[in-house]
Amino acid sequence: MDNGRRWWLIVVAGLVAGLYLFQSVGYEAGIALIAATIAGVVALKWYRKRNPPPGPSVRCVRCGTTLSATARNCNQCGSASWTYIN
Ligand SMILES: [Zn+2]
Repeated sequence: MDNGRRWWLIVVAGLVAGLYLFQSVGYEAGIALIAATIAGVVALKWYRKRNPPPGPSVRCVRCGTTLSATARNCNQCGSASWTYIN
């Protein structure tokens, strides 16, 4: 399945879900639900931007450089040995 066809399916599925929503709860409630969903997603993104989830801090054993939690080896000295700070 190519990418364009997948997007088309997602759009159609969204339209069908939207129509079903409007039919079952009514036009105003449907609009309110969609608005609340969008507001929730925006609020969550805004919250995540301001408060990124704290990952474990990683430090190189050889040179002491602070590394990202997903780093496989040190970007300063190339050592593959690292330890958690806390
Ligand atoms: Zn290092």
